[in-house]
Amino acid sequence: MNFAYLVNKDHFLPSCFEPAKLYTLPNNKKIDARIIAYYIYLKEEALKNGFNITIDSAYRSYLYQEKLFKESIKEKGVEETLKMVAIPGASEHQTGLAIDLGYYDKLGYHEDVSDNPLLVDWLKDNSYKYGFILRYLQNKEHITLYKYEPWHFRFVGIPLAYVLKHNNLTLEEYYLNPKKYQNIISNFDYPNIVTYAQICALLLLLKKKVSLKELANFINIYKQKNPNTIVVSSSLNYIKGLQKKDNYLYINDIDKDELIYFINDELFDFVYNDEELSRKLNITL
Ligand SMILES: [Zn+2]
Repeated sequence: MNFAYLVNKDHFLPSCFEPAKLYTLPNNKKIDARIIAYYIYLKEEALKNGFNITIDSAYRSYLYQEKLFKESIKEKGVEETLKMVAIPGASEHQTGLAIDLGYYDKLGYHEDVSDNPLLVDWLKDNSYKYGFILRYLQNKEHITLYKYEPWHFRFVGIPLAYVLKHNNLTLEEYYLNPKKYQNIISNFDYPNIVTYAQICALLLLLKKKVSLKELANFINIYKQKNPNTIVVSSSLNYIKGLQKKDNYLYINDIDKDELIYFINDELFDFVYNDEELSRKLNITL
């Protein structure tokens, strides 16, 4: 999976580009479905450090960006607009891999993390561990051609995020000589990240109704067979329409496509490649 492609003022996405699978989070923001677990992992670790982050803006279609751009030209003129708003096709938000982070605190909602310098620092120091890079760095404006944006993070995967962070590189600088880092990236030992809700969604898809005990058992088996796995967050809020009754979980009107988008490919591979497990789950192959 390549998450690292370059989108900037010199590298445009075509107007027809859309992420293959978008997932709508509980707050109605859409992100590339493949990065759900990483975002939840980042959010959970931030919370452990006292920061309640949320996504203020994520996927934006080409058409939406075009609308923003045209409105801004009418309001502020061409020159100001070019400084502030990406030309349609040049916005990373069209990839579904970029997120603008806000947060909640006791004063309420803040649409931009820069209201909280401690949070800005925490994200700057830690986001790479979850595969996200601070995309528009301070003192690199001449390279990225964007002003410093402490709220804008881009998913590139954990190995590349590690390399960029430890070498203080922007994505543009990395692409000047990507071979230099190829070895580190290919041999990088990074964990497999899944969420509790994704595992629950998989079992719901296969069995329609799942008990909390079955869910716990499955997670144990999964962890035993994949020691490199981190199962994050026990929150089931990410599954739309989930009902709970007498220790059983189910969904009344199951939207299979929606569930399939939510579950990551590694989980599907795990179940379908293990005959014994498939038998136990009564899956017909
Ligand atoms: Zn942004």
